Amino acid sequence: MDTKKWVDQVIKQDQIDKYLINGKDFIDEDEIYSKLNSNKDCSKEKIRAIMEKSLSIQRLNFDETATLLNVTDEDMWEEMYEAAAEVKRRVYDNRIVFFAPLYCGNLCVNSCKYCGFRKENAAEERKVLTEEEIRKETDYILSQGHKRVIVVYGEHPKTDANYIANSMKTVYDVKRKSNNGKTSYIRRINVNAAPMSIEDLKMLKEVGIGTYQVFQETYHKPTYELVHPAGLKANYRWRLYALHRAMDAGIDDVAVGALFGLYDWRFDVMGLMYHTDDLERQFGIGPHTISFPRLTPASGSKLSTDSKYIVDNKNFKKIVTVLRLAVPYTGLIITARENPEVRDEVVKVGCTQLDASTKIGIGAYDKAARNEKEDKEQFTIGDKRSLDEVVNKLARMGKITSFCTAGYRCGRTGDKIMNLLESGTEGKFCKLNAVLTFREYLDDYASEETKKIGEELIKKELEEINNIEFYKNNKLLDVVNDYYKRISE
Ligand code: SAM
Ligand code: SF4
Repeated sequence: MDTKKWVDQVIKQDQIDKYLINGKDFIDEDEIYSKLNSNKDCSKEKIRAIMEKSLSIQRLNFDETATLLNVTDEDMWEEMYEAAAEVKRRVYDNRIVFFAPLYCGNLCVNSCKYCGFRKENAAEERKVLTEEEIRKETDYILSQGHKRVIVVYGEHPKTDANYIANSMKTVYDVKRKSNNGKTSYIRRINVNAAPMSIEDLKMLKEVGIGTYQVFQETYHKPTYELVHPAGLKANYRWRLYALHRAMDAGIDDVAVGALFGLYDWRFDVMGLMYHTDDLERQFGIGPHTISFPRLTPASGSKLSTDSKYIVDNKNFKKIVTVLRLAVPYTGLIITARENPEVRDEVVKVGCTQLDASTKIGIGAYDKAARNEKEDKEQFTIGDKRSLDEVVNKLARMGKITSFCTAGYRCGRTGDKIMNLLESGTEGKFCKLNAVLTFREYLDDYASEETKKIGEELIKKELEEINNIEFYKNNKLLDVVNDYYKRISE
């Protein structure tokens, strides 16, 4: 099909209209501003009461979120950083999950003013990976020790839903022997791709999609229209309901995000909260994760360096902090767009997932495997450290890397979490899987230095696990201790 014909049939108006409330979107600019303006200058007592609510692991409402966003006293922010870190500890303990992005194609019919892949950027060398090339990329990612990838695509008929489904099948199919001779393969594929129809999304569900991720970029419609002047992405509503359609396609594991730097960060944090709320309202389930990429310089994009809304490091930490406090159960992803110092800092206040050994050029992993120079990338990578280096650094900070790819939210929903909360064990829930998968990583992929630090950390973790009543009363502990002994012999 030629590109124009393809573009003309992508958007299905009825798959937008069905989610509107009395013909209106769940985002209302006036309402967001009214929340932001009416929740200023609150007392310390009120702010502390809101923090207490987060610490009891409850989602904040719009007024409470707006109150936190409006805090101006830096001492109060220090208290909020501590509260966010504590919320994270209570829900996720000291675990961090890793993934690697796999860019499959940079052909794009859109004109996003901040992105190097936009169709007007003649400087970008265009490429779509063949099946063989996807195999090579996956093989390199596996060689680093990864078990999760996120596959990423421009929006183009050559990388339509059929291509995406086939590329996922290929990734799942690649097997590689680890350094210890064990067979390793990618256990979970998340997808970051353009909004699709319910029919197309069902296809991705069939081939085993993990999380479907679509960032709204900005929830502020006038700005959205300004930075997406043409192409399919110019349709704000087709994008706004992309994850609603995913839910209807049976993909209940979805991820929201905003590209910070396009508009006022406070507005877009509120936008993320309204999005979360509407998914919960319409489907009874909120997003699995939230992403908050920050605008970084992209090839040929003036906006990516000149935007008047660029977010500095201080405000970036505030964004992560408010998100952590507002949605205690939701995963927060910090990508390698950020440099190591920023990543280390915001991991403390709430991030749960990171990428590492990241390359975002098309075919860039295979190039790295062959020691070839990289092509231009979609945007600039700030953290070029290998997985081993990041795991090492986090282990020194007392954080344990989990390569667990178990099911949806690992049981941190509904009644289960309430029971765990009451017994004071909720943060420990996934500790066992984390320890076991970390142990495997250390044996199979880690450098000697990381192994040493990692083993010390595991020792501490095991001591803790052995003292947890929840596990003591549960035969699981014997099974795990036994399994642990066997894999570490
Ligand atoms: N083409 C699909 C789309 O736009 O939804 C998915 C892939 S796109 C490459 C993934 C994300 O990259 C976008 O949603 C956007 O938030 C982010 N991005 C694009 N340009 C960026 C830049 N200059 N700096 C940081 N992130 C950027
Ligand atoms: Fe294309 Fe996505 Fe880049 Fe926009 S952000 S130009 S849709 S790849």
